[in-house]
Amino acid sequence: MTALTLVRGDITEQHVDAVVNAANSSLLGGGGVDGAIHRGGGPEILADCRRLRASRYGKGLPTGRAVATTAGRLDAQWVIHTVGPVWQPDRDQSELLASCYRESLRVARELGARSVAFPAVSTGIFRWPMDDAARIAVRAVREAAGEPVAEVRFVLFDERAYAAFETALAAAP
Ligand code: ADP
Repeated sequence: MTALTLVRGDITEQHVDAVVNAANSSLLGGGGVDGAIHRGGGPEILADCRRLRASRYGKGLPTGRAVATTAGRLDAQWVIHTVGPVWQPDRDQSELLASCYRESLRVARELGARSVAFPAVSTGIFRWPMDDAARIAVRAVREAAGEPVAEVRFVLFDERAYAAFETALAAAP
């Protein structure tokens, strides 16, 4: 059984096997979680990302997909980069957001990660409403978690995000 846990804090300060990055498709850095991970982890992460762009992902990492790099100086072994959808009020992209969590966990399982920390993907610069994002995240993680991942930790930056994930977990424990 995989334990789903909630922490209020900074994802770059987590001691876990894999930290998930809310990246953009360029894989070359950005704001929010992405900026914090590259600042905290140092240039090795970007060097790995550039190699991925030069090899497998010439056009960038597609939305809903995930790929791993080193975690550089972070207290983790890997960063798993995933690209969330940009919120669009007139278009249901829930499957794409769920896919970020499923694909990140698939990569984590392939790597043999036992603990994985997720931010609230798409809820920052990409503007997805927090309550809805939390429901989608919890459901997708419940479906996709499993051996060897013993803990999936949602790391929420503020009280509002924490409360949304707490409610989503309580609704689908
Ligand atoms: P996206 O582009 O997918 O929306 P962001 O990084 O802009 O990604 O934001 C995703 C969520 O992560 C937002 O709720 C934001 O408040 C939160 N966040 C920003 N920085 C951090 C951090 N260092 N640790 C954890 N969560 C963070």
